[in-house]
Amino acid sequence: MTTKDAGQDYGVRAGYRRITKQVESLRPPPNLSDYEAICRHFRWDAARALLDGLPGGAGLNIAHEAIDRHADGPRGDEVALRWLGRRGQRRSFTWAGLRDATNRVANALGALGVRPGERVFALLGRIPELHLAVLGALKAKCVVCPLFSAFGPEPILTRLTLGDARVLVTTEALYRRKVEGLRDSLPNLAHVILIGEDETGTAVKGTEDWHALVGAADPHYAIPPTDPEDPALLHFTSGTTGRPKGALHVHEAVVMHTLTGRYALDLHADDIFWCTADAGWVTGTSYGIIAPLANGVTTLVVEAEFDAETWYGVLERERVTVWYTAPTAIRMMMRLGSEALKGRNLSALRFMASVGEPLNPEAVVWSNETFGRPFHDNWWQTETGGIMIANFAAMDVKPGSMGRPVPGVEAAIVTREAGRLKVVREPGVSGELALKAGWPSMMRAYINEEERYRKCFADGWYLTGDLAMRDEEGYFWFVGRADDVIKSSGHLIGPFEVESALMEHPAVAEAGVIGKPDPTAGEIVKAFVSLKAGHVWSEELRRDLLGHARKRLGPAVAPREIDALPTLPRTRSGKIMRRLLKARELGLPEGDLSTLEDDAR
Ligand code: AMP
Repeated sequence: MTTKDAGQDYGVRAGYRRITKQVESLRPPPNLSDYEAICRHFRWDAARALLDGLPGGAGLNIAHEAIDRHADGPRGDEVALRWLGRRGQRRSFTWAGLRDATNRVANALGALGVRPGERVFALLGRIPELHLAVLGALKAKCVVCPLFSAFGPEPILTRLTLGDARVLVTTEALYRRKVEGLRDSLPNLAHVILIGEDETGTAVKGTEDWHALVGAADPHYAIPPTDPEDPALLHFTSGTTGRPKGALHVHEAVVMHTLTGRYALDLHADDIFWCTADAGWVTGTSYGIIAPLANGVTTLVVEAEFDAETWYGVLERERVTVWYTAPTAIRMMMRLGSEALKGRNLSALRFMASVGEPLNPEAVVWSNETFGRPFHDNWWQTETGGIMIANFAAMDVKPGSMGRPVPGVEAAIVTREAGRLKVVREPGVSGELALKAGWPSMMRAYINEEERYRKCFADGWYLTGDLAMRDEEGYFWFVGRADDVIKSSGHLIGPFEVESALMEHPAVAEAGVIGKPDPTAGEIVKAFVSLKAGHVWSEELRRDLLGHARKRLGPAVAPREIDALPTLPRTRSGKIMRRLLKARELGLPEGDLSTLEDDAR
């Protein structure tokens, strides 16, 4: 079944069945209590009023909203961030502690001569230094780009180069494995700051030691005046063709992070919030770092990878109240069954949300039966910077639906006819999902790619590249991607990047990469190659190619399956027809191809 079929099938099978929220009397009422009324009266000015702004009217800085305004208030000594390490370590930071630590980072960057607007990259796992590096660099008005720590050297080099990295903060282990060999190719990377295993520090040639540098810095810092339109965050995302796209967000994005934290995640001041997303992706920044802190909520950072026992243990012991996770993890939990939950007391859990890939209706029904409450699916993407469509706490959840637009966001289904955009008013028709341009966390550029950025907009609408439909009650349903980009375990993967790495292998003449449906990961990356003359396909060559790709791209991006074909199908203009490869792999009629648009975004 294609994603497209699946989307429609969800709708049919679910029969628009509803799960009514069970609102226990002791729980706080949802922040978004009356969706229609709040949408009707919504004004962005009112959303901006949720924030303080820099003292003396000096503008808007994400780090001030996330940390300093709470640190300097009556809650300064309360826990803002609690970290649970892989080996059972625990570290807690109060708001005041976070303020001082991030002030030190900002001062340390200044002492290195790093200037506002320069790019600071963080290649880190889920450790608190990531929060310190990101928020400290934002205080210093640097542009921060978190990278996924499971990337191999090639995606790291591409992004550091395209993003013109001036500073990289990483761990000693990641540096030695992935970055050390790239230094000659990165002449503009002036500083690499290494976090060692412990506070004794590191002494690696050509790098600076985090603990020495930050430890010696002054804990006092005044954030310079910051225009809400000053660039703040850079996130790379993948298109079908060409290099990864660097989506640039500004400080004003914090308005959206704060608003959606309140409305879509229903955050209340005494919540314990856990976002399981990896720090290298946009969810890990917008909702793993900024949204909870900006809402004054204690955030949990859990270093361990997914393991149902560990995760259920965290939910129980830490008394997590709001949990934001992803469909792949939910499907893994479903596979294990509810046995693992026996005897656990998860009574603190109030709200559960999911993002990143289609959430099957079965998963919503399962969670309702297993946890006594449903997962609330929501939809957004790197370019939108924050949640755009959500199943809200006070609304009925329609299993399989992404929910309704966040107040202030206008979403529509559009089609393109004779080059013109047509907004589809009638329900039940699928088309491209579009958003009225202008919400605060909308990307402001694809760096160095003005034309590519411009092409995402038409007639005042931002075109998302996703296919969806809207039902008669205004709920949106995901239908599929309009392009060939792959979503595997929630990670967006550009086929071009994978194909390029495969083509570097001496035996490969051409490569075509598709997403192959998988019951747990959503999709897995599957590659087809044709070989250069003199090479013969064998099990040994397959293994060699898999190993080559894993080494260059990292395990999260490399193909899981590779097959050889005598030649790959191409369009007349010479582009590999990934859609045809996919139709053949899935045994779909090739006639279906007429409906498969060839999008070059
Ligand atoms: P990224 O930019 O990596 O966050 O990926 C964004 C893409 O993930 C979207 O354009 C969708 O294709 C997909 N996605 C995100 N959330 C959902 C969801 N709730 N349901 C279906 N697809 C989703």
